[in-house]
Amino acid sequence: MPSPQRYAAIQQIQRRRPVATAPAASLEELWASDVFTLDAMKAALSGRVFKSVQRTIKEGGKLDLSVANAVADAMKSWAISRGALYYAHVFYPLTNSTAEKHDGFIAPKGDGRVITAFTGKLLVQGEPDGSSFPNGGIRSTFEARGYTAWDITSPAYLMQTPNGVTLCIPTVFVSWTGEALDKKTPLLRSNAAMDRQARRLLALLGEQEIAPVNSSCGAEQEYFLVDNAFVALRPDLQLAGRTIFGKPSAKGQQFDDHYFGAIPERVQVFMQDVEHQLYKLGVPAKTRHNEVAPGQFEIAPVHEAANVATDHQQLTMTVLRNTAKRHGFTCLLHEKPFAGINGSGKHVNWSIGNATQGNLLDPGKTPHANLQFLLFCAAVIRGVHLYGPLLRSVVATAGNDHRLGANEAPPAIISVYLGSQLEDVFNQIREGQLTGSTKGGTMALGVDTLPEFTKDPGDRNRTSPFAFTGNRFEFRAVGSGQSVAGPLVAMNTVLADSIGWMADQLDAHLRSGEELNAAASAVLQQVMREHGAVVFGGDGYSSQWHQKAVAERGLENLPTCAEALPVLRRPEVRELFERQGVLSAVELESRFAVYAEQYALAIEVECKLALQMARTQVYPAAVRYLSELATALQEQQAMGLQPSLAVRNRIGELLHQLNNGCDALEQALEATPHDSEDHIRHCASQLMPLLGELRSAVDGLETLVDDNLWPLPSYQEMLFIR
Ligand code: ADP
Ligand code: MG
Repeated sequence: MPSPQRYAAIQQIQRRRPVATAPAASLEELWASDVFTLDAMKAALSGRVFKSVQRTIKEGGKLDLSVANAVADAMKSWAISRGALYYAHVFYPLTNSTAEKHDGFIAPKGDGRVITAFTGKLLVQGEPDGSSFPNGGIRSTFEARGYTAWDITSPAYLMQTPNGVTLCIPTVFVSWTGEALDKKTPLLRSNAAMDRQARRLLALLGEQEIAPVNSSCGAEQEYFLVDNAFVALRPDLQLAGRTIFGKPSAKGQQFDDHYFGAIPERVQVFMQDVEHQLYKLGVPAKTRHNEVAPGQFEIAPVHEAANVATDHQQLTMTVLRNTAKRHGFTCLLHEKPFAGINGSGKHVNWSIGNATQGNLLDPGKTPHANLQFLLFCAAVIRGVHLYGPLLRSVVATAGNDHRLGANEAPPAIISVYLGSQLEDVFNQIREGQLTGSTKGGTMALGVDTLPEFTKDPGDRNRTSPFAFTGNRFEFRAVGSGQSVAGPLVAMNTVLADSIGWMADQLDAHLRSGEELNAAASAVLQQVMREHGAVVFGGDGYSSQWHQKAVAERGLENLPTCAEALPVLRRPEVRELFERQGVLSAVELESRFAVYAEQYALAIEVECKLALQMARTQVYPAAVRYLSELATALQEQQAMGLQPSLAVRNRIGELLHQLNNGCDALEQALEATPHDSEDHIRHCASQLMPLLGELRSAVDGLETLVDDNLWPLPSYQEMLFIR
């Protein structure tokens, strides 16, 4: 019998019914109805102004103030006609969250009346007091000015609450001195870098007409749903987003009966509510299903331009969290809410392409397209080999440390999976077998003889952190709670740099009079000879691979944030970002400082929570049970029986371990080093192991103490009751 509080929670949950919201409308009615789309702009703007906006969106460049004024006016009318009284500049600070500065359209007149006002200047630029956003030392509070500036490539939209509507304008967030304080600015810069380099390479391949190249992203979001009634009894879920204690449920995911199973009705109703809202916001939600763990689900959209996809991904996280509350759930986006069962990731599907050449990572079917594909794909291979540790560092968060290196996604070592067919092609390239042959009418480079690539290779390797999946790469190491901006910035920048190098080489070969095919095959061969070591098609979880990857392949194993975050300080990483114009040295260092601080703070909060829960919830319950037990044992002795003292003794030992564990943790918490690298090492090497020891005492007690006294909802309850 669970404790009275837990029993009350269970009853409350069993009484819950699915929360019906508005009856389903058609997709046409829902789609982007809350978005100031290009169509909405076109309808509201003069032809001249609209053309100018379109040009800025497609080709970049400054927005003229007269154009901005006209757009602001149209945007205001559109928003006000839908009930908005306020507008917000939405920006993306370095914390993975979304931030908003709200302002009213209200403008008092001298005579006591008010009107609504919104100008081009207010649309294009805002000034939130940014001093309390982490900036890693870029600004001190006395020079705290931060500016938000409209990102015209990401459409404005309306956020609805039961009490009103707010016009939301996606913006970049920069300091008074022009440094990027956010995640959007570097993403836009990384796209521009990739565009520059990709166009160079395409031109060398003989392309005449080359449209701007953009990266695309489709991010699969995994999450857990836990009933609010349970969360109310779990301080750890409330503050840390994960269970710090909890013995495993007798039944976990071992039956594999949850994956793609029937979705419980209450959950499905929640999902539909989420999807309707996302459709209104112009987010193309596409798939939903149960995930591997009980209580775990996934939502994935159709891929979009990386910048828009990133904003939409942030919106998806917000909508998931807010909607869950209305349905009596808490949506956990933490990477490892429950020990011992699958964690949550966010697979970032990524490709690059443009309107004229299409998806540059699509193998296609013609030899010409193959040559283009082989060069771009080789550029990815080279980039991941050179900057694998950087890719590891951009997915380094306190939450993701529980996942990486465990039996799910092993990206502590970053390798590339190509699939057997493609791996074979690249092996041949390395051996030089695809070069020079003209026999039987095949072209030089032998591309005619390449097998036709199948779009979806049957063999999927789920153990690879970075996998080619038919016409894109899938970065699987990204954490479920992370913004996808950081990983996209890293991938775009690394690829831009690598494409730039390939273009330089190809150019040199061509200038020396070589033919295109011979030149390309020489470059490809060089890439595979120098960087083929990063390609791995085997089991990424196996311990043999972990040894071999490091000892024979020379790849790095960076198991925790303490090893991974300092990669951002390496000279080659700094030079990469500077060379591509994506982050200055100061901006990069500020990112290291913020991420290191976020990591340490997260772990310290967990330690404090653990102390609080162990001392004020677990200890009292165990002591109460011990005294009940003592009375019972005395009574048995009085009856002349010889009762077993085993349980009592075991509880005594665990209580001892708990008390010592708390004291040790408390001491370690006080001994915080000043230097940031020492600090994060202290978290990883001292605090985390101590937290683990304390947990084993608490979880041990959970197996012995009377269920009726145990204060915390169990894994079994949280994972299976909804
Ligand atoms: P799975 O779970 O099997 O990996 P999903 O269908 O859940 O596949 O997710 C695939 C994701 O990849 C979707 O978001 C999809 O839009 C995205 N995607 C498909 N093609 C591309 C592409 N060329 N570039 C980027 N993302 C893509
Ligand atoms: Mg996937």
